[in-house]
Amino acid sequence: RSKAAGRNQLTFFESDMQVAAMQRLKLISDLRGAQADGQLELYFQPIVELDTGRVVKAEALLRWRRAGEGLVMPAEFVKIAEECGMIHDIGNWVFTTAALWSKRWSELTGSTFQISINKSPVQFERHHRTMDWIDHLRKLGVPPSSISVEITEGVLLNLSENVFAKLYELREGGVEVAIDDFGTGYSSMSYLKRLDIDYLKIDQSFVAEMLHDPTTSTITDTIIVMGHKLGLKVIAEGVETAAQRDWLAARQCDYAQGFLFAAPMPPEEFERMLLG
Ligand code: C2E
Ligand code: MG
Ligand code: MG
Ligand code: MG
Repeated sequence: RSKAAGRNQLTFFESDMQVAAMQRLKLISDLRGAQADGQLELYFQPIVELDTGRVVKAEALLRWRRAGEGLVMPAEFVKIAEECGMIHDIGNWVFTTAALWSKRWSELTGSTFQISINKSPVQFERHHRTMDWIDHLRKLGVPPSSISVEITEGVLLNLSENVFAKLYELREGGVEVAIDDFGTGYSSMSYLKRLDIDYLKIDQSFVAEMLHDPTTSTITDTIIVMGHKLGLKVIAEGVETAAQRDWLAARQCDYAQGFLFAAPMPPEEFERMLLG
C-alpha cells in the first residue's frame, strides 16, 4: 500500500470522527434546550391484567420531539443525557409529569391508576442530585403507591449504600419498585434478600422466544413461579401475539404489556383508550 493511500485513509477516518463528534455536540446542545422548549414528551403504554384483560396500569416512556428531526427514541439520547448530567433534570420532569397524569387518570377512573417510570443507574448513584420524591408527591397530592419505579438489574449488581438508601427511602415512602428486563442482567438475585421489591418484569427477549425454545420456556415459567413464591407480581414485556398472552395467562403471570395490546402513545390518546 502506498504512503499516499494510507494518508488518505487516515484523513477519511479523521473526518468521519469529526462528523460524529460534531453530531454529538449538536445533540447535546439541542438536548439542553429541549426541556425548556417543551420538546420532551411522555408516551404511555398500557399494562393489562391478564385475568380480566383490563388496562390497570401504564408505563411512561420518554420521547424527544426534536426540531426538524421528528420523534427521537430514548436509545438515542438517554445515555448522552446521563453522561452530561442532564438526566437528573429530565428525570425530575418525567417523575412530575407521570405523577400528574396518574392523578388525573385515578380521578377519572375512580381508582388508583399506577404509572411506572424508568430510572437509569446514574439517577441513583448521585443521590444528592435527585429531589426528595416522596415529599414532591405529597406536594402534588399524589399517593405514593400511584408511582412505580422501574430499575434494571444492573442497578442492583453493585448495590452501593447510595442506591440502597434511595430505594429504601422510596419503598418506605410507599412508592413501588419493579425490576425491569429481569433475567438479562447478571441475576445474582442476592439483592432480592436485601430489598423489598414489588414487581419482576420479564424481559421481552424471553417472551419472544418462549414458544419456540424449550429452555427459554422453562426459564420464563420459573421466573413466574419464583416471583410468586417471593410474593411479587410478574409483568411480561413485549407481548406481541395472542398465543404468547394465552401461554402467560395459563401460567398465572399477573400482567402483560406489548404491541398485542397497544404501542406506547401520547397521553391524550391513552386517555381516550382508557375511558372509551
Ligand atoms: P424498557 O423500560 O424495557 O421499555 C420497554 C421498551 O419496549 C420500550 O421501548 C417500548 O416501546 C418497547 N416495547 C413495548 N412493547 C413492545 C413489543 O410488544 N415489542 C417490542 N419489540 N418492543 C416493545 P422504548 O420506548 O424505545 O424505550 C427503550 C428504553 O429506554 C426503555 O426500556 C427504558 O430502559 C429507557 N427509557 C424510556 N423512558 C425512559 C426514561 O424516562 N428515563 C430513563 N432513564 N430511561 C428511559
Ligand atoms: Mg421499563
Ligand atoms: Mg424492559
Ligand atoms: Mg428494556
